[in-house]
Amino acid sequence: MTYPLSKGARAWQEKVRKFVDEELIPWEVEAEMNGGLLPKKVRARHHRLVRELGLGAISMPRELGGGGLTMLEQTVVSEQVGRVTNALGWCVRHPPRFLADVATPHQMETWVRPVIEGRRHECYAITEAGAGSDVGAIATTAARDGDHYVINGEKWHVTGGGAADHFTLQAKLTEGAHAGAHALFFVDLDSPGVKLVRTPAYTHTYAVQHPIFAFENVRVPAANLIGTEGDGMEYTREWFRHERLMIAARCCGAAGRLIDEATAFAKERRAYGHPIADYQAIQFMLADSLTELWAARLMTYRVAEAIDAGEDVKVLHGQCSMAKLYASEMANRVADRAVQIFGGRGYMRENVAERFYRELRVDRIWEGTSEIQRLIIARGLYKRGQRALVE
Ligand SMILES: Cc1cc2nc3c(=O)[nH]c(=O)nc-3n(C[C@H](O)[C@H](O)[C@H](O)COP(=O)(O)OP(=O)(O)OC[C@H]3O[C@@H](n4cnc5c(N)ncnc54)[C@H](O)[C@@H]3O)c2cc1C
Repeated sequence: MTYPLSKGARAWQEKVRKFVDEELIPWEVEAEMNGGLLPKKVRARHHRLVRELGLGAISMPRELGGGGLTMLEQTVVSEQVGRVTNALGWCVRHPPRFLADVATPHQMETWVRPVIEGRRHECYAITEAGAGSDVGAIATTAARDGDHYVINGEKWHVTGGGAADHFTLQAKLTEGAHAGAHALFFVDLDSPGVKLVRTPAYTHTYAVQHPIFAFENVRVPAANLIGTEGDGMEYTREWFRHERLMIAARCCGAAGRLIDEATAFAKERRAYGHPIADYQAIQFMLADSLTELWAARLMTYRVAEAIDAGEDVKVLHGQCSMAKLYASEMANRVADRAVQIFGGRGYMRENVAERFYRELRVDRIWEGTSEIQRLIIARGLYKRGQRALVE
């Protein structure tokens, strides 16, 4: 207990750790061997427990029925969620917080509150075949037509698209004062013109899919516009900051679990008459992992506290990138070492190190690749200087 966490954050940490250890981790191997799926009864139990524990929509304000957790509390919760493989912890949800501020009463009743209550499910569609890192290059358009917008385009890697019933969709406006700028829309999945193109297989074994969707002349009421025209990218930047911090937290959780599991194995596994834990080669791998985890955790908690304290959002943008970059690369190094410590067992899908070795790879890609995080950090350094960012 070396970090001075608030009492509230410590309580969340213990509560979620218990839930993860007792309810989720025991199901990892079954999920891995079944395309990420668990028996319906088990999944229903997880969702019920999540609701009872107050983890249904941790990012959303209490007055809307959300958990109302501080950013530090969300971070410690996400860290615990990160300890489990196969995304079984994703029953703990954190919908985009900005929706609570900008949704109209109609949007609140139709999408936001039902999502908070777990009655509806959203996915966030930004990326396209020709626009990933370079979000500005999206080609999906929203053309105003009377009291509707007409949407055309194609979205890739839509996480949760297999189970969602609506998109938060980012498109480029074609005319008006904000022509060329981005806007976000609620788009129901069953709207005429929305087509599932295909559901590709990915490296990890997650029940949640990442399908490709086409939008062909999809007519969306103007009342589905989120916030104001032209502000789409600003909202997405807020979402990116939040997601990057939560990825950093989950990576810390994964690394912590891997260190525990690899240490326990090293103490028990014997080679040449001794536990392998006695060999310096193994000790060095564990020591490096623990040291790097601590650095990543300190960084992650500190950024969360800075967000809670309302510090300068431009500085926070760079700090979220630093936390995501460092924690995701750290967790990948730790997973690689854990596989090595487990030896042949570390290459078996029933082994936690093997699963994390595959699963953590995407944390260096999604919500901005490591290269993009470095660009953001360097830009922040040039504009604001070292003192603003890290002193
Ligand atoms: C499993 C999964 C789930 C996802 N879920 C979602 C989702 O729910 N919603 C969504 O909208 N998107 C989602 N994504 C998309 C994800 O955010 C993008 O894949 C990511 O931002 C990278 O974009 P890209 O794949 O087009 O790669 P590209 O942008 O084509 O990049 C390819 C390579 O070029 C590098 N590169 C690009 N530009 C530069 C530069 N200026 N300098 C240096 N290097 C550069 C990149 O770092 C990368 O190494 C998901 C992706 C995956 C894999």
